[in-house]
Amino acid sequence: MKKLSLTSKIFVSLILGIITGLILHPLKENLFIETYLINFLFNFLGSGFMRAIRMIVVPLVFCSLTVGAAGVEDVRKLGRVGVKILAFYLGTTAVAISLALGLGNLINPGKGIVLSQIVASKVTVGESKPFVDILLGMIPINPAESMAKGDMLQIIVFAIFCGVGISLLGDKVKIIKKGIEEANNLMLKLVELIMKLAPFGVYGLIAKTFTTLGYAAMLPLLKYFLGVVLALILHYFITYQGLLVLIARYNPIKFIKKFASTMVVAFSTSSSNATIPTALKTMQENFGVSKSISSFTIPLGSTINMDGTAIMQGMATVFIAQIYGVELTMGNYITVIFTATLASIGTAGVPGVGLIMLGMVLTEIGLPLDGIALIMGIDRLLDMLRTVVNITGDAVCTLIVAKSESEISEVEDSYEGVETESV
Ligand code: ASP
Repeated sequence: MKKLSLTSKIFVSLILGIITGLILHPLKENLFIETYLINFLFNFLGSGFMRAIRMIVVPLVFCSLTVGAAGVEDVRKLGRVGVKILAFYLGTTAVAISLALGLGNLINPGKGIVLSQIVASKVTVGESKPFVDILLGMIPINPAESMAKGDMLQIIVFAIFCGVGISLLGDKVKIIKKGIEEANNLMLKLVELIMKLAPFGVYGLIAKTFTTLGYAAMLPLLKYFLGVVLALILHYFITYQGLLVLIARYNPIKFIKKFASTMVVAFSTSSSNATIPTALKTMQENFGVSKSISSFTIPLGSTINMDGTAIMQGMATVFIAQIYGVELTMGNYITVIFTATLASIGTAGVPGVGLIMLGMVLTEIGLPLDGIALIMGIDRLLDMLRTVVNITGDAVCTLIVAKSESEISEVEDSYEGVETESV
């Protein structure tokens, strides 16, 4: 009998995790299930996998980007790639919010809702920082601290400096260069090893989430929930697939097949940040994108490009405005497009932060922050879905830019998983 590939195994665990969660949900208060299954087994499998994969994010991003930047002969090329990728990241995010706002006005998620039917939760909100502080915050004053904190933008800046320095010094630092290259290979090997545990990790994460998830809270908010899901689907299948076909000339089906296991990791961890190692390896090995492009664009995208998050923020703004009976003006919509783009840039790629950053958008147009409490109860599942869109956006923009720079090499089409070899 043919052994299942790793990608298929990850998918099977995803389905098994959902089934387990749905079966156990009504029993979640049972002491045995709560203590031994949810808090011990699922928690250990899921969080253990997530911790293991997060363990390699910082060293992998640093080594891979330093190696990538050192390999660029012309520093101007790095600047050109930076400008192009930023244009695509910002452009697609603006399209994503506009889509969510348009759809929100079509389906009116907040009309006819009785506030007392919704269970509100406690919230903390994110605030906007002056633009100059955002820029300054990208320059590390202590790279060791940036790495300890996992501050991705600072690590990116430091790695680019190191890479450019290595390239300028040439043979004088050939031992350092070789050392970082080898460390990068080691990190990629660790991704491969940890991904062998993905079927267990995904099962644990999904089973835990679905066992504890409350579905009752979803009912009064069903229109909002479906609105976000529909906007995510449209953005995925129209914006991204359109860009793939029209600009990157890439077959969308082939894209989905090759990117599937990365999407499952994003879905089950709800964290763009934790998906960086898998996404990076997938872009390099399944799509043949060069290190110098992918090791720059993927960590950057996972930190600043969050189209799925922007979609949720757009739909949530329409929903909250309608619940509180506030008519949004054209000026408000433009402000939302602008601030939600900034808010999604400021959203860290970890679970749930998109909702906190929604505070920035609501404050900007004078909507009550209490609105966030209303949707918090059902945000968990949406977070999983939007993280898939977030990470897919990074991959699509990366492919486009890599194609425009002729930085894609041929890879075998049969290569579909992070590692297809049967395990
Ligand atoms: N969980 C999302 C991510 O990591 C961010 C968010 O929208 O909360 O991409």
